[in-house]
Order: sequence, then C-alpha cells, then structure tokens
Amino acid sequence: MSKTLEICVATNNDHKIGELKAIFKDYNIKLYSLKDLNIVVDPEENGKTYAENAFIKASEVSKYTKLPVLSDDSGIEIDALGEHLPGIYSHRFAVEHGGQLKTNTLIVENHSGSKAHFTAHFVLLNLEPNERLDFEGIVNGKIADKINGEGGFGYDPIFIPEGYNCTIAAISADEKNHISHRYRAAINMLNYLIEKKYL
Ligand code: IMP
Repeated sequence: MSKTLEICVATNNDHKIGELKAIFKDYNIKLYSLKDLNIVVDPEENGKTYAENAFIKASEVSKYTKLPVLSDDSGIEIDALGEHLPGIYSHRFAVEHGGQLKTNTLIVENHSGSKAHFTAHFVLLNLEPNERLDFEGIVNGKIADKINGEGGFGYDPIFIPEGYNCTIAAISADEKNHISHRYRAAINMLNYLIEKKYL
C-alpha cells in the first residue's frame, strides 16, 4: 500500500474542511486543518480570480508548514447580478448585505429563476518542492424561489443544482459531496494524484 499523502488545507472554514475530509475519505490522504497545525493566518485575498486568491492563501500558509498545501477558493455566480458576480466576492457580498440569511432572502426575492453556478478552484502547492497545481470544479443550476433546506452553508439554501428540484441545502451532505463544485475539483485532483502514482 502506498504511503499516506499528508496535506495541509489552507482554510479556516470548518464547512469546507468537513466537506473535503468526506470527499477524500476513501483515499490514502490525511488532511490537516490550520487549527490542527496551529497555523494562524488570514491573508488578504486581493486577487482578481479564484485561482489568484487560492494561490495567495496557499503560498501564505506554505511559509508555516513543510506539508503540501491545498487551498480552495470558491464562490457563486448569479447571472442576474452581472457577469461573474458575486463570484470571488461571495463572502464579502453576504457580509455587506447584512449576513448570509438576509442576503439569501434578498436574492430569492429579486433573482429567483436566474441561472447560477458554483466554482471551486484548488491550488495544490509543494506536492513537489515549488510545484503549483491547479484544479477546478463547477456545478450549474439556478436560484430557488424561496430559501429551502438546513444543510450545507453559505448560498446552499438558495441554489438548485441542474437535475434537482430542491436546493443543495435540502439534500444530504453525502449527496452534496457527490455533485458539488468542490467534489468536481477534488475528482480532478484525485485523478492527477492517481495518474502520477501519489495514490
Ligand atoms: P472563500 O472561498 O473562503 O473565499 O469563500 C467563498 C464564499 O463562497 C463562502 O463564504 C460562501 O459564501 C460561498 N461558497 C463557497 N462554496 C460554497 C458552497 O459549497 N456552498 C455555499 N456557499 C459556498
């Protein structure tokens, strides 16, 4: 059996860590959170793309660990809000509109039926010294006409993925982890790791 691949995940978002651990659970990969490694960083994400922001987070964290670092920058784009919006500003957008619940309410009231998609961009840094690898996953869907479901986080209660008639927050965590943008980015990464015999 191959050696366990140990990876530090560059996020303070417990939901993301939980989802990534669940997605990778059947593989010989051990994920460490920043908390596990006592790394306290909160770099300014001032990039213009998911890829730039993921790289900013990964490279900052890599100053504190010798492990390969995986960073996930993600967001939702809602066509009715304009091209790529809120996109990389998804977190800030919710903060500026009074929190996630208020923001989700505002979006369903004004943009129900709009096409939307989630993107997850992974940067895996230092699998080999100074090596940067990029993987992306997208899930298409539309905005619901009302908030629905208790699961997931962020914009999950207002996003209906293609092929479903309920929001991501209304399906099980296990099912989300088989259709989500994060799952799709993870599959691309796993395929690479398997092809290159890291797994
Ligand atoms: P960041 O990638 O940590 O900058 O966060 C991006 C923001 O996008 C999160 O705070 C959420 O608002 C949103 N987001 C990213 N992934 C998801 C998801 O799987 N479900 C719901 N919202 C998400």
